[in-house]
Amino acid sequence: MTVRPELMRNIRTTEPYVPGEQPQNKVIKLNTNENPYPPAPGVERALREMDADRLRLYPDPAAEALVKELADFYGVGENQVFVGVGSDDVLSLCFLTFFNSDRPVLFPDITYSFYKVWADLYRIPYECPALDEDFRIRKEDYYRENGGIIFPNPNAPTAIYEDLDFVENIVSHNRNSIVIVDEAYVDFAGRSAMELIGKYDNLIVVQTFSKARSMAGMRIGYAVSNPDLIRCLNDVKYSFNSYTMSQAAIACGVEAVRDREYFEKNVRKIIETREWAKEELRKLGFVFPDAKANFIFARHPRYDAGELFRALKDHDIYVRHWDGGRIGQYLRITVGKREEMEALFSFLKSYLK
Ligand SMILES: *Cc1c(COP(=O)(O)O)cnc(C)c1O
Repeated sequence: MTVRPELMRNIRTTEPYVPGEQPQNKVIKLNTNENPYPPAPGVERALREMDADRLRLYPDPAAEALVKELADFYGVGENQVFVGVGSDDVLSLCFLTFFNSDRPVLFPDITYSFYKVWADLYRIPYECPALDEDFRIRKEDYYRENGGIIFPNPNAPTAIYEDLDFVENIVSHNRNSIVIVDEAYVDFAGRSAMELIGKYDNLIVVQTFSKARSMAGMRIGYAVSNPDLIRCLNDVKYSFNSYTMSQAAIACGVEAVRDREYFEKNVRKIIETREWAKEELRKLGFVFPDAKANFIFARHPRYDAGELFRALKDHDIYVRHWDGGRIGQYLRITVGKREEMEALFSFLKSYLK
């Protein structure tokens, strides 16, 4: 049975975000920027020791234990931290809360494709200034009137990181709109814009446990800002769903943040593998912007990216590719374990001849 047009007329229809594939068979998975290493050992302990009887009860709606741990980690107040179900949840709530103007929200034309989806879903007007020919954000494009600004740093899928002066420049040129810096990959890159939170009341920094903390499957993300903006975010959250963070997510999140040493070691390993992988890709003739995230955005001047993508997939090596446009000749390759990257390079060496 098909629904009649008269009925469809008042239904919110939208074009959804398309996540990377999650194949159920065993493959070399370099397509969704997951971390190849397990989470901190305390996370496994927390899961093992979870008392199923406690699941009768609702979780703490404020997820206080996790908020406190993050506040301690970053040296900010507990009233400056908001947690949610992955940064996708946090970012989506940020769009709903802070992008509430008739003027267009600005984000780059080539960036995390979820921004456009949320803007459409919430009917927020937006404009997408083009990255320059080197895929860099042009800060001057963000000096015009707007209803808010969001960009990832490092940007996705380019992996380009801009320094703190660049971020501060955009924030300081836009004192009357909210600027959100999506730092999903900042731990692999450099200084976080969190340093600027005390200086600018219009800045929100969003981060995630999915990449550097190896916990994509647990769904934890967070925003850090000033107490007023965090309160606004909480008010919207409590108007939506009070219990977003499960007991498991709270308990595991606390353990992950507590183990600073494991976290730093994990990040160092990825960076080491990334730097080596960049060398290997260069030797194979690939070109790419300098990658500062846990992925490399590369193209080969003599091979079609779509064909390469399919050849890799036929050999159970998954990377990400988007058809057409300015990025149609690029592959986004997640930095996996050294062995996984070796398998990738050994395939490429025989394929590229
Ligand atoms: C991965 C990613 C996110 C979302 O991560 P969650 O798993 O929802 O925390 C947000 N922004 C960018 C740019 C990302 O790459």
